[in-house]
Amino acid sequence: MSAEFDRLSAAVREIAEEMKARPDRGSVADYIPELAHVDPGRFGLCAVDAEGRVAAGGDADAPFSIQSISKVFTLTLALGMAGDRLWRRVGREPSGSAFNSIVQLEHERGVPRNPFINAGAIAVTDLILSGHQPREALGEILRFVRFLADDETIRIDEAVAASEQRTGFRNAALANYMRSFGVVTNPIEFTLGVYFHHCAIAMSCRQLAMAGRFLAHGGRHPATGHAVVSPQRARRINALMLTCGHYDGSGEFAFRVGLPGKSGVGGGVLAIVPGRASLAVWSPGLDPSGNSHLGREALEMLSRRMGWSIFG
Ligand code: GLU
Repeated sequence: MSAEFDRLSAAVREIAEEMKARPDRGSVADYIPELAHVDPGRFGLCAVDAEGRVAAGGDADAPFSIQSISKVFTLTLALGMAGDRLWRRVGREPSGSAFNSIVQLEHERGVPRNPFINAGAIAVTDLILSGHQPREALGEILRFVRFLADDETIRIDEAVAASEQRTGFRNAALANYMRSFGVVTNPIEFTLGVYFHHCAIAMSCRQLAMAGRFLAHGGRHPATGHAVVSPQRARRINALMLTCGHYDGSGEFAFRVGLPGKSGVGGGVLAIVPGRASLAVWSPGLDPSGNSHLGREALEMLSRRMGWSIFG
């Protein structure tokens, strides 16, 4: 055991204990009815370092709905399929508006600002779906996530997917609007079906931190040495996570934590320490921008204690 890993383990444990006791937790997302039942008192934190050692604290092994964090994996897959052609369908600029905002689509002929807001992620899902049946596309996404995490037990929470399918009127509006410009090309119900299901993948902090390792290590899957993506692509995905990964809270996350990160309304965050570690945190209570409130605080503490901000 290295001194650095001992420091990391102690920090993860202490932060998880402190966060478990905190009263100010934010509020759980309830616009997806199934997510409204989640206990706001849960808290998990996990870090996997460059040697593959795992530091875990709190509820690090409890699965939760990864929601928008899945967009990191779909973006990676879509880039593998379409390469730079993807950027004809989706931009690379922070949005400065809410995760489900429709206003900007009108100004940019249906092309979403980035792949992490809902509209952008729906466009990315549509590209993965093209030429496939929805079931095949979804199978491909799930297999990819299992491969990255080295874990065949990862599942989709069908109740969460069904709940969003019943109530996702805003996402249907986004998809229809993009379809009118030819940015979405498949039948809307197919594209949305795949989108809702990949958002409903359930993972624990440990599984998520494992799945993020390739982004911390120049695109390589550390267990096999296999190149998941090129080093340049890994750098670019990290850049998008830094600038767009927290909706209109992305600036605040960069300011406080100083790491590329992607949040989801299930209260999870995946954060990358380039060259060093992959981190995942879960606390279901959200701040007004839809990002985990204590999740961000925990990552801020961990990044400060370890001296991990990419800004030096
Ligand atoms: N499935 C969610 C939605 O489309 C994802 C949002 C999120 O995690 O930020 O509303």
